[in-house]
Amino acid sequence: MRYSGLNVLWQGLTGNKGWRPAWRNPDPKPEYDIVIIGGGGHGLSTAHYLAAEHGLTNVAVLEKGYLGGGNVGRNTTIIRANYSLPGNSEFYSHSLELWEGLEQALNYNVMHSQRGIINLFHSDGQRDAFARRGNAMINQGDDAILLDREGVRKMLPYLDYEQARFPIYGGLYHPRGGTARHDAVAWGYARGADSRGVDLIQNCEVTGIDIENGVVKGVQTSRGAIRAKKIGIVVAGRSSQVAAMAGMRLPIESHVLQAFVTEGLKPTIDHVISFGMGHFYISQSDKGGLVFGGDLDFYPSYAARGNLPMAEHVAEAGMTLMPMIGKAKTLRSWGGIMDMSPDGSPIIDRTHIEGLYLNCGWCYGGFKAVPASGNCFAHLMATDRPHEAATGFRLDRFNTGHGLMDEEATGAQHNLH
Ligand SMILES: Cc1cc2nc3c(=O)[nH]c(=O)nc-3n(C[C@H](O)[C@H](O)[C@H](O)COP(=O)(O)OP(=O)(O)OC[C@H]3O[C@@H](n4cnc5c(N)ncnc54)[C@H](O)[C@@H]3O)c2cc1C
Repeated sequence: MRYSGLNVLWQGLTGNKGWRPAWRNPDPKPEYDIVIIGGGGHGLSTAHYLAAEHGLTNVAVLEKGYLGGGNVGRNTTIIRANYSLPGNSEFYSHSLELWEGLEQALNYNVMHSQRGIINLFHSDGQRDAFARRGNAMINQGDDAILLDREGVRKMLPYLDYEQARFPIYGGLYHPRGGTARHDAVAWGYARGADSRGVDLIQNCEVTGIDIENGVVKGVQTSRGAIRAKKIGIVVAGRSSQVAAMAGMRLPIESHVLQAFVTEGLKPTIDHVISFGMGHFYISQSDKGGLVFGGDLDFYPSYAARGNLPMAEHVAEAGMTLMPMIGKAKTLRSWGGIMDMSPDGSPIIDRTHIEGLYLNCGWCYGGFKAVPASGNCFAHLMATDRPHEAATGFRLDRFNTGHGLMDEEATGAQHNLH
């Protein structure tokens, strides 16, 4: 079923009885050419591009819960291409281009909104670093504008510019950055993959990976054994646990990241803003809630909820930046499990086991990567060659030390990520 304005009108006039489920709910088959473990944003987009760009449709996505119930439906939805290191720059640039055509490609409204991102800076040194980053973005073909204090004030009049401790010197403006509705992205890719014949199997937990003589043969699941010629592990915060089923120890730590949403308010904040002197970033959802977040809780955990010290830090940073936020009531907060890599950059690679592929290490920035990650991972799984936008995301860089992309990790500007 194609979605269109005309269809909405027709369904409205005929009692909305003609809508069909957006995807089927099939039982698993005994065998597939490709099995993707994980029905989050990256797993679903991989399945979509395998079918749409490589004609591979004998594919199953195995999801232990429901589609989009992981981090893809838990994040603060910021989309940007503002990385500065070769390897990352071209990848996120590729992702931003895919975002810009995504709704047409999927025939699905993911509410992509290029409302612009402004990263604030608060010292001369920080201005220099942002100027360098902006130049790298422009060299990559993306957009960046360095604003002085008055330039920022015109766009964001409600910030506290005069406070003595962290006065705002200016901001790096990335107009093509923005947000999208997170779970709609999962649903759009799910529908795209399903309509091409991919089986999306929910409530199907992978409990083991079958390997014979160094070659993958299939998976054990809560719904029985499934044979497969190729298997992709795309499980974000659970990457270490699932890779351990294949005897692999990954350079990944799982950490909690929290987000917060207030009651619905009148439209006030029409950009994404990040504070340069504390870990705090904010935007306003289309429903009116202020959506904001901070840093990791800084201890490894598989709990999808956070602790109070980080909630307090986020509240303090928000109050410092925009005291008006103190009047809003926080309605919800939650945590997601982040797959943190040592250099802050992801892994899209084959493994030493034939037929087993790995996609992980997205840290707290994997939502904006969903289109390019799926696109590049599908290319790798279909052709056994890395996509030209993802050649640097090799697993062995953590063994050899060559090609590390230390874009962030524990660097001084972790608030940019
Ligand atoms: C609070 C928060 C804010 C964030 N903000 C941003 C942001 O503003 N911008 C940005 O770019 N990124 C952001 N992120 C990061 C982003 O959400 C993640 O990097 C990204 O969603 C991870 O990829 P995914 O969507 O595939 O993960 P998930 O949606 O977590 O998908 C993984 C799936 O694997 C499934 N799974 C796990 N184990 C098994 C198994 N054994 N068998 C079968 N299935 C299994 C899980 O159930 C899950 O559905 C944020 C994350 C959080 C938590």
